[in-house]
Amino acid sequence: MSRRPLVAGNWKMNGSRDSNANLIHDVIFEVRKYPDVDVLVCPPAVYLDAVGRQLEGSAVQLGAQDLSEQPKTGAYTGEIHGVMLRDVGCTHVIVGHSERRSLYGEGNDKVAQKFATAQECGLIPILCVGETLEQRENGQTESVLAEQLGTVVTACGAQAFKQAVIAYEPVWAIGTGLTATPQQAQDAHAFLRAQLAASDAKIAGLVRILYGGSVKGENAESLFAGPDVDGGLIGGASLKAGEFMSICAAAAAQARSK
Ligand code: PEP
Repeated sequence: MSRRPLVAGNWKMNGSRDSNANLIHDVIFEVRKYPDVDVLVCPPAVYLDAVGRQLEGSAVQLGAQDLSEQPKTGAYTGEIHGVMLRDVGCTHVIVGHSERRSLYGEGNDKVAQKFATAQECGLIPILCVGETLEQRENGQTESVLAEQLGTVVTACGAQAFKQAVIAYEPVWAIGTGLTATPQQAQDAHAFLRAQLAASDAKIAGLVRILYGGSVKGENAESLFAGPDVDGGLIGGASLKAGEFMSICAAAAAQARSK
């Protein structure tokens, strides 16, 4: 089963009008070398409109880092609805990033609501799942992943993953410089795909599962080697065009060899 690789940059709470414009200028120019890779950038919400305008006519897609779980717009101060994200050109939105889960108390049920709202708005959710170091050391990796993915499958159905992406991001590897080994990444991805296959084998074969956690130009090719690894969700390294493009090059190289 060949799936088009996706490399998504999560800029987190970084950037400025000037630095974004420079970064996007370089990304748009360089990305033309990798026509077989889907490339997405997820800037902070306040910059989505400007970045989206700059991306017009390029192959680079726009995503948001979060959205409100509320099904309708209205009196929810500080929140951003999926229809607004669509309005400024977003095609994707990250849901359930570990920083949202750990720092802002988002549990599996809320993440499932966000996933559902995203799809109702025509956005492709990128569902982040992953275990903490303690959970891994206690042998709970699979049960944690099963619950994180399972809550969304129960709420939205396996068919919903026809228009969704999964990102496996071990919490202990995010922003730490530590990475899963390529085998650990492949094992987790295979487990997630098998879990989805238990409900719908066809959808499981189609869904893209990204690896995230300290991916850099130098380690991307080995991390993307596994047959169930379909690209990456990139934090820190997505803020430097050269580094981000090396990761896209690695995804392109792996896609050719799979
Ligand atoms: C992330 O925030 O999704 C991420 C993977 O971050 P980093 O690449 O910096 O570890």
